[in-house]
Amino acid sequence: MHIVMASPEVTPYSKTGGLADATSALAKELANLGHEVKIFSPLYLAASENNDEIENTGLKFKVSLGRRDREGEIWKKGNFYFIRNDHYFLREGLYGANDREYEDNAERFIFFSRAVLEAIKIMGVKTDIVHCHDWQSALVPLYLKYVYSDCSEMKDAVSVFTIHNLAYQGLFPRETMDIMGISPDFFSIEALEFYGKVSFIKGGLIFADVLTTVSKKYSREIQEKEMGCGLEGVLIKRKKDLYGIANGIDYEEWNPATDKYLPFNYDSGDLSGKKKCKDKLKKVFNLPDLGDLPIIGMISRLDLQKGFEIILKSEEKLASLPLQMVFLGNGSEKIRCLLEKVAKRHPNKFAVFIGYNEPLAHLIEAGSDIYLMPSKYEPCGLNHLYSLKYGTIPVVRATGGLDDAIVNFNRKSGRGNGFKFKTFSSRALMAALNGALDLYMNNKGEWERLQKAAMAEDHSWNDSAHKYERLYKTTLERK
Ligand code: ADP
Repeated sequence: MHIVMASPEVTPYSKTGGLADATSALAKELANLGHEVKIFSPLYLAASENNDEIENTGLKFKVSLGRRDREGEIWKKGNFYFIRNDHYFLREGLYGANDREYEDNAERFIFFSRAVLEAIKIMGVKTDIVHCHDWQSALVPLYLKYVYSDCSEMKDAVSVFTIHNLAYQGLFPRETMDIMGISPDFFSIEALEFYGKVSFIKGGLIFADVLTTVSKKYSREIQEKEMGCGLEGVLIKRKKDLYGIANGIDYEEWNPATDKYLPFNYDSGDLSGKKKCKDKLKKVFNLPDLGDLPIIGMISRLDLQKGFEIILKSEEKLASLPLQMVFLGNGSEKIRCLLEKVAKRHPNKFAVFIGYNEPLAHLIEAGSDIYLMPSKYEPCGLNHLYSLKYGTIPVVRATGGLDDAIVNFNRKSGRGNGFKFKTFSSRALMAALNGALDLYMNNKGEWERLQKAAMAEDHSWNDSAHKYERLYKTTLERK
């Protein structure tokens, strides 16, 4: 099949979260299965500065945005295709700076969505599947159906839209319709309107031929009021076209035996490298050696979604336990200040590193004993899966992809691969964490067995890429 992916982020060129890893790894896996895959994303500042190997194809196009035309260029490296427009994309942040979204985000991603289809046209690529991701490319299915349907390259194509996080919807003022190049009739409840605003994500939810989201549990959760973000009605209507397919992880990037960022590699046959990574981690975070205490790690966007509310509420209880904790994250200024205050009050127990830092993320996965993910909601999540591979036992809240992948450890049967709690509360979190601490402190043999079993699990893309392949095929056959 000829597959075109449209994604606002792609690892290793641009990333604010799991979406970037997921789209790049899926594209790679589908290519390994023998498909022709092209993955499109904007050419942001970071990618263009650090990569002279991205080449100009010489192909140019124009997109009309209301009364203004904007030009774009197509750049390329391997099967990564980049939409270049320096006015829109040559900026410090991907979607905003200094805690504020860019004011022209609607225009930037209308441009991107149309640019991908323009690119298919001028490159003359006969396309079977157009697979788009999140609100930034959610208008592509609509444009494909109503603006580019006569185009010979795309007339038989079907569209797939993947929801990586329903809470980010791309909501913009009604006037946005003026630059979209489609009939104003699309501003209706049956199409793009959402309580008086234009909702980009509805473009995907309503007009894509098939919908997916990144775990089975989340696919059910978003059809309910609590997590449906006001779109549960739309999702219930499309229930039969909505599939939950879990993200996998890329073991070429995330494998402690080969990880290029680690000072010491290790595998389940010999965990001594993990212990050395732990010593290094303490040094990097300036934590004193207090004996054999477990390190609890966390790498995350600083966002309430990730459960910081209940972590902060647990401060004193956590501080009184035999553990040390390291946080790596960036995002909300408020959460940052609160975490830094916690670290100041308990400098021997908590340490925080603010910023985005890929090598440090790998060291935390390797050097920690326990990985904490108390998310309020979690469409799929990746770090619990990395953690399993690194022998770092996850403590998670039973939501979305965390609930699907983590089985609560049962002392009697020895089954399970982590510790899990249901209620979103400090109390429930502490109960699960205490279970993990107890096993770590009092039964090292069982702890090591748990680590080794976790490391042997397979959460690669293999299975999920086959599921996508089958879904593409059946959707094409249905058309
Ligand atoms: P989300 O997409 O909701 O942020 P995921 O768990 O799906 O959450 O993916 C987060 C990804 O981003 C993981 O690969 C994680 O390691 C990475 N990440 C998050 N914050 C940072 C950071 N500050 N530095 C390095 N990597 C980070």
